[in-house]
Amino acid sequence: MNCEILNVGTELLLGDILNTNAQFLSQELAKLGIGVQYVNTVGDNKDRLKRSITNALEHSDMVITTGGLGPTADDITKEVCSEVFGLELELHQESLENMKAYFNRFNHPMPLTNEKQAYIPKGAIVFKNKFGTAPGCVIEKDKKLIIMLPGPPRELVPMFNDHVNPFLQKFSNSIIVSHRVRTFGIGESALAEKVSNLLDNSNPTVAPYAKDGEALLRVTAKAETKEEAEKMITPIIDNLYSQFGSLIYGVDYENIEQKLVELLAQKNMTISIAESCTGGYTSKRITDISGASGVFECGIISYSNRIKNQVLNVSEDTLKKYSAISGPVAVEMAKGALNLSGASIAIGITGIAGPNSDETGSPVGLSFIALTDGKSAWVKKLEIGRNGQRDYNRYVTGSHAFNMARMYLEGQIDELGLERIDF
Ligand code: ATP
Repeated sequence: MNCEILNVGTELLLGDILNTNAQFLSQELAKLGIGVQYVNTVGDNKDRLKRSITNALEHSDMVITTGGLGPTADDITKEVCSEVFGLELELHQESLENMKAYFNRFNHPMPLTNEKQAYIPKGAIVFKNKFGTAPGCVIEKDKKLIIMLPGPPRELVPMFNDHVNPFLQKFSNSIIVSHRVRTFGIGESALAEKVSNLLDNSNPTVAPYAKDGEALLRVTAKAETKEEAEKMITPIIDNLYSQFGSLIYGVDYENIEQKLVELLAQKNMTISIAESCTGGYTSKRITDISGASGVFECGIISYSNRIKNQVLNVSEDTLKKYSAISGPVAVEMAKGALNLSGASIAIGITGIAGPNSDETGSPVGLSFIALTDGKSAWVKKLEIGRNGQRDYNRYVTGSHAFNMARMYLEGQIDELGLERIDF
């Protein structure tokens, strides 16, 4: 079975909102082995919507629409789809009751305009909306299907998971399983070169991607069952681990900070961060991870030299002798954060995110990262060199700090070949 996703909404065409529904549905349909041939976006305009649906049905077995199920006059998806299949809309009593109950929960009488949403094409299978008023539905004619889903992702995603996914499983004779092997410290092209023997595989496939200063490999298998697909993927991932060792930080992690928080929790250890050029971004990334409260002691944004000195105890001599952007200052910042917080390990970050350099003329994108456990410190000099990309420089600097901590916790930090100072 193949499919077209048709996202309805003028706000999508104006660029007011990001089309996350298309991404979500494409990913989910791929897992079901249903090929998405086209993703199309159309405004809330009756003629163009009708043309888009008719065109889509000519080349696809199924069209999934999102949006336009609301109560207002410009919400016309159900009306147009019914017209294309020659169906009438009729009141669906259960949906009307659900809608009234939805408003009751908030102690609001249901506005009359909402009643429109309970009118469903005759013969449709209805999908209940747990988090909103518009029910979804599917209609069928001449072996072609139109599935209509609400626009808001917080309504669409649970509706898809609870109702549409089970409905679609009967049309799918294969499933697709994908795992992301996440690496740190190797570029996308170097990674691709090293696995070039795998890149022509047709099942499972192995594909390299670059994402936020990291490279990852997506390993994907198609099989009749999930178990079979997993069996096909396991030897490939094992193989990648033996080839890349500690360059791989895990499989299916969202990011390296997630791995770090998990490792700290496993080892019952805590971390603190003193940061300058990253302005709190590194601490923020740690606290984005659920469970961070158990492992994160504190983040100190010591932007000025005065605060580096007064709060973190970075000595004035060190600041003068080496300048604020230097390895010795990063080490003293990390030591200061460790002493202040009593954490198991601490990170110090100092550098120039750009776009302008500092008074010493250090290049934009230069930073020093130190990690200490109180007995030793490891220092990394990092030159990202992306002028004008302040956020990217900050992000990648933070990722390197996380990777140092990850390697420390895995007992592999000396593999990074960093300067090491034993106190
Ligand atoms: P409502 O009852 O809220 O009107 P609806 O089914 O009519 O729901 P729309 O009016 O088309 O949906 O969209 C409502 C909101 O849902 C949009 O303003 C937007 O915030 C979000 N939305 C719609 N389509 C998408 C999309 N493709 N990707 C992400 N968000 C979307």
